[in-house]
Amino acid sequence: MTIFHLSTECYPVAKVGGLADVVGALPKYQNKIKEVNAKVVMPWYNKHFVYDYDFEVVFDGFIYQGSNMLQVQVMKETTDVLGFELFMVKIPGLLDRENPYGYEDESFQFLAFQQGILHWLTAMKIRPDVLHCHDYHTGLVPFMIENCYEFEFLKGVKTIGTIHNGEYQGMMSWDMVNCMPAFDHHKWGLLDWNGFINPLASMIKCCSAFTTVSEGYLEELFVSFRGLESLVREEFSKAYGIINGIDTDVWNPQTDPMIDFNFNSKNALKIKKKNKAKLCKEYGLNPELPLFAFIGRFATEKGADLLPDLIWRSIKQSFGGLNIIVLGSGNAYIEQQLKELDSVYSNFATDIGYKEHLSHKIYASADFLLMPSRVEPCGLNQMYAMRYGTVPVVSYTGGLRDTVKDITTGGSGLNFTYPGVDDIIHAMSRGVNIYKNKAQMDELVLSNMKFDFAWEKSAEKYLTLYKN
Ligand code: ADP
Repeated sequence: MTIFHLSTECYPVAKVGGLADVVGALPKYQNKIKEVNAKVVMPWYNKHFVYDYDFEVVFDGFIYQGSNMLQVQVMKETTDVLGFELFMVKIPGLLDRENPYGYEDESFQFLAFQQGILHWLTAMKIRPDVLHCHDYHTGLVPFMIENCYEFEFLKGVKTIGTIHNGEYQGMMSWDMVNCMPAFDHHKWGLLDWNGFINPLASMIKCCSAFTTVSEGYLEELFVSFRGLESLVREEFSKAYGIINGIDTDVWNPQTDPMIDFNFNSKNALKIKKKNKAKLCKEYGLNPELPLFAFIGRFATEKGADLLPDLIWRSIKQSFGGLNIIVLGSGNAYIEQQLKELDSVYSNFATDIGYKEHLSHKIYASADFLLMPSRVEPCGLNQMYAMRYGTVPVVSYTGGLRDTVKDITTGGSGLNFTYPGVDDIIHAMSRGVNIYKNKAQMDELVLSNMKFDFAWEKSAEKYLTLYKN
């Protein structure tokens, strides 16, 4: 069974968040199943990876956006170093950029990506069993293969749409229709949502089945989905929640080359302390006090706007003393406030930016990981934290609900129902009390490390879905 994963991110080629981790790992684990041949297609980026590895041109052609002719090249990484075949679509001016997102012409960029893929497959007569589309950037594919005359050859190919983040839907004005390949205009309703072309809505309408990255998140979408609630209810018969796994080759404290001192469940209690001492020294924190960490995008869905208030209040209230470290970037106002707090409080440190190595060091060093998310489709941070013996302190939402149980209900994390500062501080104070009780804290560290979040189970679930 041949599966093509279509995505704008894939670790380690280009990563902004969890989408990259999933697309970099799931196909690798799928390929361990005998009957599956999973491949990844992503845009070409001007990043290290494309210079560090060899690529060959497997296709050269042209697409049109309106009267604009664009050259399309499909490049294949020659060694399959990632554990799957990797194809990158190169379109000069649109798909040869530094970063996946943040460009004003993104509607043209992602449309070109999808057209480029379908044009290549059609021209080369490649007919996969499944086109697996990830998020809205590839959300028009299910519509286009069924309705665009040019891609007639692909009609009937099954499509899966996975929603990693329903907050972003890629809405664009109907003017964009002039840039799309010709289709039967009676079908316009399959693109439309509230007067806009909405790629995520179109994906839900047109795909064979769609998935969310946790069961909890799927339930939430029925009541809160940025205007698509009624659509997801209407289409619920083809909806599935499949929890993400983690790549245990990359996220393994015993072998992780990005952390200072490797450890396993036998020596974790000692070695985690060494990692913490080193990190605390680098950031001027006190290694004797519990270390709470936040890693992520500074976005309201992540509750990052709560951090400044949370930080000064938890430090002032103290409840026995604590350190906080924040790694992230995004909203400029939040960045500014955190920098100011960093200059005032000695037990708070922040590092602004996207830093893969530092994130691993923090997972390996921290005692607690804070996730005050308002929306969390799955969340990978809590799983990485647990694997590295760090106790997650999380809001009770989406995938966090599915993966972290509170210690009071037999789990090994700390939950708070509502992501508000008071509730989070209460959960943190529970954490500080646990930290003071060494035996309880040690037990939590070790029990968290035992959780099995490996991809195998979810890879099987996707296979079952493909077969259906
Ligand atoms: P998202 O909604 O951002 O995709 P996930 O929890 O699914 O959230 O995945 C986040 C991923 O991005 C994790 O691998 C996390 O470690 C990583 N990450 C987020 N922000 C940073 C950062 N500033 N530096 C390094 N890694 C980061």
